[in-house]
Amino acid sequence: MTKAIRIHANGGPEVMRWEDVPTPEPGPGEALVHHEAVGLNYIDVYFRTGLYKSPLPLVPGQEGAGTVTALGEGVTGLAVGDRVAYAGPLGAYATERVIAADRLVKLPDGIAFQTAAAMMLQGMTAQYLLRRTYRVQPGDTILVYAAAGGVGLILCQWAKHLGATVIGVVSTEEKAALARAHGAAHVLVGKADIPAEVKRITGGAMVPVVYDSIGRDTFMASLDSLAPLGMMVSYGNASGPVGAVDISLLGAKGSLFLTRPSLATYTAKRRDLEATAADLFGVVQSGAVQIRVNQTFSLRDAAEAHRALEGRRTTGSTVLLP
Ligand code: NDP
Repeated sequence: MTKAIRIHANGGPEVMRWEDVPTPEPGPGEALVHHEAVGLNYIDVYFRTGLYKSPLPLVPGQEGAGTVTALGEGVTGLAVGDRVAYAGPLGAYATERVIAADRLVKLPDGIAFQTAAAMMLQGMTAQYLLRRTYRVQPGDTILVYAAAGGVGLILCQWAKHLGATVIGVVSTEEKAALARAHGAAHVLVGKADIPAEVKRITGGAMVPVVYDSIGRDTFMASLDSLAPLGMMVSYGNASGPVGAVDISLLGAKGSLFLTRPSLATYTAKRRDLEATAADLFGVVQSGAVQIRVNQTFSLRDAAEAHRALEGRRTTGSTVLLP
């Protein structure tokens, strides 16, 4: 038997139950991974509440790091004992899990399991947002919401490393200090009039890209912060989904571009997964980006971790320990 958090009905954090489940066996093309650490991500909340749909019962979680303990038929390039990590398929809130072997990435020796579990999903997201969705250039000034969060702290550091000036948005002074310490040049705290602040900071030029993970509450302020031909990247719904958008708004506000990207699309091909992970490992190993594991919880206490995340009481990344 193995232990896993299972959800039998969507709802609040209390629907997550710590249960015995049969130890899975890897089928063809699959690997069994013994987790050393599991990543906590906001998307886990969306699957728990039912905002994102999945058949029940559900083992939540889409990120982990550990050791390969068995391989199914036909797996090449991996061996029992390899240190691996992943971001992707549901089922991570478990002491061990089966996963398609082509979703696993081997961990370089210098990257610890907890760091890996903290960064695969949030760090690869930062990579595609900054390098592919909109390719940040030296000299760009960019707007980043939840700048002290998991994705946020990585975005701040990586964007600065690329030569950009980051305007971060956070809810408290403590988070502002953290965002500044990780590369944000300007930080907007609380309910500031964001477009007016962006106008002041940029001398009226506004920004070429907004990375908005908040969704409903900030969508219009984000559009109003963009320069003509700017790119609105709506990549999360921490305040609720944006819903239907009248596209004539994009014309009226300056021929804007709007995208709703997801990591799954950007890493669907194996070669993209490898390139994205390699880029991330590079900036982490060089020290340009530091992964902040600011909270750890026992995996069995995942409900407590969800309460902290939804209550905006976490900063940086959070790891669940089996
Ligand atoms: P965070 O650590 O950023 O936590 C969420 C943060 O959002 C909070 O700390 C809070 O920061 C801010 N926030 C603003 N409004 C609310 C609200 N009403 N309720 C709760 N939080 C709020 O989480 P992650 O780093 O895990 O994820 C960040 C976002 O990125 C999420 O929206 C997630 O869905 C998205 N994401 C999208 C991906 C994609 O590919 N599309 C991949 C990975 C993540 P503050 O208090 O400073 O406002």
